[in-house]
Amino acid sequence: MTQPAPKSITLVIPVFNEAPGLSANIQTILQALQDQHLTDQYHFSLILVDDGSQDDTPLVIQSLESQDKRIQGIQFVRNFGKEAAILAGLKAADAADAVLVMDSDLQHPPSLIGAMLGLWEAGHKVVNAVKQQRGNESFSSRLFAEGFYRLFYWASGHDIVNHSDFKLLDQEVVQAYCALPERRRFFRGLVNWLGYPAAQIHFAVAPRSGGGQSAWTRLRLLRYAVTALTDFSVAPLYLIIWLGGAVILLGVLLAAITLLQKFSGMAADGFTTLIIFLFITSGAIMLSLGLIGHYLGALFLELKQRPTYLIKRQATDDDDTT
Ligand code: UDP
Ligand code: MG
Repeated sequence: MTQPAPKSITLVIPVFNEAPGLSANIQTILQALQDQHLTDQYHFSLILVDDGSQDDTPLVIQSLESQDKRIQGIQFVRNFGKEAAILAGLKAADAADAVLVMDSDLQHPPSLIGAMLGLWEAGHKVVNAVKQQRGNESFSSRLFAEGFYRLFYWASGHDIVNHSDFKLLDQEVVQAYCALPERRRFFRGLVNWLGYPAAQIHFAVAPRSGGGQSAWTRLRLLRYAVTALTDFSVAPLYLIIWLGGAVILLGVLLAAITLLQKFSGMAADGFTTLIIFLFITSGAIMLSLGLIGHYLGALFLELKQRPTYLIKRQATDDDDTT
């Protein structure tokens, strides 16, 4: 009797300016697979997506490719962001039975891969690694993350508290994800939106390995959060209606008081009130217009249908765009 072919698992790893530690980190990941005796049961391959790094990352990836035929590189022409890198990796992983998405800086512990594969074998099409403790993040970062997830849940109805991009997806989920027509993507939210049966596994975020620092500045994170939120929900637009209603109500109340004062002979000393009211309402109007503008901008960008990324070099295929 012939043995069934081992299932194939692809690790998709987005990489941006990670040259100093990348090689060692990849070795650590491969070693972890061996230590968990996974290489005996599965056929592994790694897709390293260079997201337009400015350092020697592409060279490191090419040298890794030549050392180990399980490793395949994809190089973007410029930085398109982690979301684009994940998408390119998932599209290239169409031959795998399951795909694992993980960071290249070892903040997603490879020691968890065995347990994640176990949950997949048990029938979960998605395995989410959820952050148990948020590494050594500052209080303000934690507060920001907490606020974001709560807001995201309120606006979209999707509970992705402390979810990370460290996920195992069955090929069926990968296909469904890649088939989504949208260009602006929020991986964590969209996988949840797809609604496949998911299991959770908790992990403690390790400190960054391999030097360098997080590519995410506060401003970039804030922009990412706003985009994620508004791409998933139009609730903020409805908030404007409520805000408008509240202002009108306040206006009616103030009008009644002012008229009462006028007819009762007490001339209203209303200049201060007027100034305050004027500033608050004009601020609210500008904010609301900005919010509408934001949605309009998102619509405009999506409508152009520009590719999510452009590939400069891919290990197996010729140049390609998506
Ligand atoms: N990354 C990427 N493109 C970017 C920024 C980051 O592909 O524009 C990669 C990065 O190399 C790493 C992962 O995404 O593998 C997570 O990035 P980082 O460690 O900077 O973020 P954090 O751990 O702070 O979320
Ligand atoms: Mg990191």
